[in-house]
Formats: sequence, structure tokens, C-alpha cells
Amino acid sequence: MAIGSIIYAFELLIMVAMSVVSGEAFDYWDIADPILLTTLLSPALFILIFRPMRDQHTILEQTVSQRTQALELANRDAITREALLNQVLETTSIGTFMTDEQGRITRTNQTMATMFRRSAESIIGLEYIAMVDRVDVEAARTNTKRVRAADKVVIDVDRRYIRADQTQFWGYLTGRSFQQEGQANRTFVYALTDITERKRAEDATRIAATAFESQQGMTITDSQGTILQVNEAFTKITGYTVDEVIGKNPRLLQSGRQDAAFYKDMWECILLSGSWQGEVWNRRKNGEIYPEWLNVSAVKDDAGAITHFVGAFSDIGERKAAAQRIETLAFYDPLTELPNRALLQDRLKHALTASARHQRQGALLLIDLDNFKTINDTLGHEQGDLLIQQVAKRLVSCVRESDTVARVGGDEFIVLLENLNQNNQDVAKQAKITGDKILAQLHRPYEFGGVTHHSTASIGVTLFDSTYQDQIEEPLKQAELAMYQAKTAGRDTLRFFDPQMQAGVSARAALESRLREALVQDHFLLHYQPQVDAKNRITGAEALVRWLDPQRGMVFPGEFIPLAEETGLILPLGQWVLNTACAQLSSWASQPKMAHLTVAVNVSARQFHQGDFVEQVLDALKRTGANPRRLKLELTESMLVDDIEGVINKMSALKRMGTSFSLDDFGTGYSSLGYLKRLPIDQLKIDQGFVRDILIDPNDAAIAKMLIALADSMGLGVIAEGVETQEQRDFLTDLGCAAYQGYLFSRPLPLEEFEALVNRG
Ligand code: C2E
Ligand code: CA
Ligand code: CA
Repeated sequence: MAIGSIIYAFELLIMVAMSVVSGEAFDYWDIADPILLTTLLSPALFILIFRPMRDQHTILEQTVSQRTQALELANRDAITREALLNQVLETTSIGTFMTDEQGRITRTNQTMATMFRRSAESIIGLEYIAMVDRVDVEAARTNTKRVRAADKVVIDVDRRYIRADQTQFWGYLTGRSFQQEGQANRTFVYALTDITERKRAEDATRIAATAFESQQGMTITDSQGTILQVNEAFTKITGYTVDEVIGKNPRLLQSGRQDAAFYKDMWECILLSGSWQGEVWNRRKNGEIYPEWLNVSAVKDDAGAITHFVGAFSDIGERKAAAQRIETLAFYDPLTELPNRALLQDRLKHALTASARHQRQGALLLIDLDNFKTINDTLGHEQGDLLIQQVAKRLVSCVRESDTVARVGGDEFIVLLENLNQNNQDVAKQAKITGDKILAQLHRPYEFGGVTHHSTASIGVTLFDSTYQDQIEEPLKQAELAMYQAKTAGRDTLRFFDPQMQAGVSARAALESRLREALVQDHFLLHYQPQVDAKNRITGAEALVRWLDPQRGMVFPGEFIPLAEETGLILPLGQWVLNTACAQLSSWASQPKMAHLTVAVNVSARQFHQGDFVEQVLDALKRTGANPRRLKLELTESMLVDDIEGVINKMSALKRMGTSFSLDDFGTGYSSLGYLKRLPIDQLKIDQGFVRDILIDPNDAAIAKMLIALADSMGLGVIAEGVETQEQRDFLTDLGCAAYQGYLFSRPLPLEEFEALVNRG
């Protein structure tokens, strides 16, 4: 009896203690311990409720003599226990109830009633299932069946319940069945705890934990910046484990790339606005420096005081590397890894802006290899690439790190020297020093493919200042012009851009557009210069083009033919001359005194080399009805050296029609007899250069003599041009020349004057 009392008292103590504990305001316990509570509680309840019955049963086995006394004791104990049980049930903060086999509630306590916002009486007789929220009814039913089917089952389960007022709460249920010996029906005892708060907290924790363990590195520090917690991503990114950083300051990640002012700004921003984000370069445990995107937020308590800082960051090294790769592709030359033209233009733009700010000048050097094409053509592109790479290296070695070396074309490089000086002379001097250094470097022999190679470069230099801020193409053009000057000057040299050079270029550009306009406006006309025979009879004329410019008056071909050749305008112009000359021939054909005249037309190289040149001539003849035999085409030696077969074919085709050929400016070229013989030429035209000094210069006389003899030996006609005096003419006659053209006979004349001249004679 005494022992029994002690046990009950002990159990009661646990119960009360537990009630007290669970009733306490410690959130933590509320969240974490109902499990512990109820597990402990179940055996306690078991002992309280069933021990008396078991005791009774034991008593029955005792001797009859003891029975009465024992029963008495037992009854008394039972009453006491019943009272105790009631007391415990009513004081515990755990809802308890018992059900029968059918799940009908047979007994409950006040806590349970309060939990369901009902009276205890109204609960008795209800089915347990009826108290479960609809969402969990299915699960509850299955579980109840399982419990009933089993012999002895302990259940513990989180489940939602519904109160009288239809509100829901989460309950944690434990329970077990008990079978009294000799009794068919079992009794089920349950403990139910409201765990709504715990559930909510669990959810919040789960969400927070999921968020915390994101891809982003996370650091939580206290208000002093001491690290309290980091996540797995933190370790992954920084290389530091949790243990290595807890208690430390995030400063241990600093790379030194940002200065104190940077961190000062950052903290000012956090303290002021509550957060900061930006790019920070940090150092991993292995020493590697990496860029991260960092977001720091201050956590404040209700009073607004900062309690924690949360840092979230992601490694943006990959993203940066990708961006860099894209930049490399767009702005660097893959062969040499030097900046390309786009990047150079960008740098130049900056340099021009900067020069405005600092009143300083810079220089632009355009470097063009002299013989790159030969190397490329003879050795192949791979060898050419090797040369380019070596040139690139040497160029870089010639300049300061702040200068730019760019590859802007196949064998074209640009060196941009910035921030040189304020004084023009000094800048030029420095640019010259660098340029000379480059020339010397590039002049040195190159070793690749096991062979020594030689190369040189031509450099054009221009100085720039803020004047060109809005026209960056200008310095580039100037450097190019200067580079061409260097080429003309014999290569392997350097030339400075000179403003006069520029003036010439601008004038040419203006001339070109006016020339174009003249073609459209039909501002050209032909003058005719007589060609005479030994008896001074006019046999024909050379058609010489003139430009009647409304602004400048008569413009002579020397001023526009070279440009027309360069720009291709010579093609439409040449065609116009051809057509006009043929039309003239056709018109003269019906004038008795003019009908015998030939017209010599100058053909430029570009014109002659057109694929359809023959067709163009035939077309002009056909359209005008001119007699091909009266048409003479003046070609020059230089245009006949390339593609000799093609030249012969063209000439032969025209010759078959009756058209003849005169070789203009003869003697100035480098014709070899061998090839001259193969060409179907009719006449050699001794250049006026030999005629001019034929009486004074024995060399010219000798050459003229030789040319005439040559023509004779080849069975070709010969005509001397530029004959100005009777003496010249007589000298030529003595040498055997029987046809002449020159001021002695007539200047080139406008059509009417020429016709008048012929008609007079
Ligand atoms: P060219 O074919 O050698 O023409 C002869 C040039 O010598 C002409 O100059 C002519 O006026 C000039 N001349 C003729 N006799 C004398 C003389 O006694 N003394 C001197 N000092 N000069 C004389 P022009 O007309 O100024 O033509 C210059 C060049 O322009 C021509 O040289 C020819 O190469 C080119 N040219 C003229 N017309 C045409 C044309 O229709 N087509 C092409 N492609 N070129 C043309
Ligand atoms: Ca001519
Ligand atoms: Ca000539």
C-alpha cells in the first residue's frame, strides 16, 4: 500500500511537472516537446487508470481470509485513485479522452473541452472521427480501423481537428489500446495536444531553411558583424566550412580589390537605407579572387535597432567570364589578341575626349607591312599568320602599357599614343621616336617555319587633339594618307601627315563629284588636233577631250583624266569619247573634203581591260555607222604587258573590222621587241618627250632615230607628236619619219575650226 502510494505520488508528480512545463510560456518547448510530453504521458495515464484494476485482479487471487480486507483496501484505493485521476485529468494541459471499441468517447477532460470550445459533457458520446477536420477524416478513419484491428497499437499522429465554432487546429494525438483480462472490449486512451503554434513555426522554419539553403551564399551576422550562420552555398563559393567562419568577421573574405572608401560607402548605405547591393571582389579560401553580386540587408527589432545583418551573394565569375568572352570576340582580333578596329575607335574616341579635358595631344601611327602580300602569296596564309603574330608582339614591345596597339586590317596596325604633351613639336618628336623604334623592330629578321624572313613597314603618323572629338574618322584618314606617302617615298619609312596633303585630298574629292556631275550634264567636248603627212596634208586628227566646266571654263585632260582613271569615271567618259568620235566620223563621211579623215581616239588602260571593250567599240561603230577603217585607237605600252593573249585577242577582233592601232607615247615604256612583234599594231607614235629636245639632246635624237628604224624594220608606220618647229620636223623627216602632229601644224581645235582648217587646205 505504502509502495503503491509512493508510485502514484511519483507519477502524479511527473504529470503535474509536465503540465507545468507544457503550460509555460517557453516557445521552444511548445514547439519541440509535445512529443516528449505525450510519450511520457501515456504510460503515466496507463498506470493511473489501469493499475487499480490490475491490483483488483491480483487481490482476487489472494487468500479468502485476506479478501475482505483486501477488497476494502482496494475499494478505498480505487476511490482515492479515481479522485486522483480526476484531479490529474482536470489539471493537465493535455487533452485526454477514452473511447470504446466503436470509437465513441467515453471520458474526457476540461482541457480537451476547452480545446474544442465545447463542454466536456457534450463531447461524451461523440465519435472521435466527428471531431477531426474534414481534410483529415479519411486518414483518421483508416488509422482508427488499423488501431481497432490490431491487438495493441500505439499511435501518434499530427492531425487537424475542428472546433465547435468550425475553426481548425492542429493536434498531436497519441494513444494506445488496453485490454483488461477477462474482458472482451478494449478501452482506448488518447492524449491530444494543440500543436498549431508548433506547426506554424515549423512551416516558417522550413520555408526559412529552404530559402537559406538556396543557390545563393548566405551569411548571417550579429549587429557587430560576427558571423552566426552560413549556408552550404557559402561553403561552396568561398571554400570555407561553417566551423571555419562562425565567430569570424566576413572581412576574412576581402580580396583587397576594393579600398576602404568602398566599404565605408557600402556601410553608410546599409545603415541609412537598410540595405546595399553591388559587385564585390572577394577571395576564396584557396586564394582565388572572384566577383560576387552581394546583397546586404539589416535586420531590425521592433524598436528599430539593428540586430543582425544578412548577406546574400552569388558568384558572378561565370557570368563575367561569359561576358568577357563575348567582348573578346567582338573587340579583339583572334589571331593576335590585339584590339580590333571597333575597340580602337572606341579608345580613340576616349582619347579625344580626354585630350580635351587635359589639354594634351596624342598621336596615331598607322603601320602597314610592305611586302606582306608577297609572303602570303608565296609562303601561304599560315606563314603569313605567323609573321603577323610576331609583328604584333614587336609592336606591343615598342609602346607603353597605356598605349593601344590594334590590328585594323590584314597587315595593318594602329598604335595610339595617348597623353603625350601639350606642345605640338614635342608630341611630334615623341611620335617619331616611337615610330622609328617600330621601324627598327619590324626591320629585324623574323624566324618562323625554320627559315629567316625579312619584312619592313611603312608608317603614317598624325597628331590629334580635341579638335577631332566629333569626327574620329579624321585622324584615321590622315594617318592613312601619311602612310601612303611613306609608301611612295620608298617604304620602310615614316611620314607625318601634312595639312597640305589633306587639302589636296579634299580638292580631289570635290573634283570627283564635279566630274560625275559633268558626265550627267554632258559638259565634255572633243577637240581635234590634225595629223599631217610628208606633204603637210591633213590625214586625220587625234580627238582630245576637254571639260567645259561652268565654274572654271575649259579644263584640260591632264587635270581630270588621272582622277577619272582612279575613280572609274574614265569608263563612262571613254565611252562618251568613243561614241562622239565615231559620230563625227560618220558625219564627215558625207562631207567630200572630210570623208578621208581618220580619227585617233585615246583609250585608257582601264577602259581597254574591260571584258566587253571590243563590243563597246563595235557598238559605237554600228550605232553611228562610222567606217571602222577611219578609226584609230591609241594604246600605251604599259597597258599591253599583262595578259598578252587577251590583248592580242581583243586587238585582233577589232583589226578584223578594219580598225587600226597606234602605240602612243612610244619610247617611254619598257616594251620588248619580242612582244611588240606579236601585237597587231599599225603605227608607233614617238613620244613628244623625244621630239622636244631632238635638236639639242643627242640621246633623244639617237632614240628617235632608233625608234623610226625599228618601226621601219617591223613594217609599221610612225608618227611624231609634239612637233613645234620646222627644224624638228626637218630633222624627223631626215630620220625617215613621214607623219607629224604638233603645234607647228595646229593646236587641238574645236570642231568648227578643225573643219574650217581642213576645208581651207
Ligand atoms: P596624249 O595622248 O599624249 O595627247 C597629246 C597631248 O599633247 C595633248 O594634250 C595635246 O594637246 C598635246 N600636244 C599636242 N601637240 C603638242 C605640241 O606641239 N607641244 C606640246 N607641248 N603639246 C602638244 P592634252 O590634250 O592636254 O591631253 C593630255 C593627255 O590626256 C593625252 O596625252 C592623253 O593621254 C589624255 N587624253 C586626252 N584625251 C583623252 C581621251 O579622250 N581619253 C583618254 N583616255 N585620254 C585622253
Ligand atoms: Ca594620244
Ligand atoms: Ca602621246
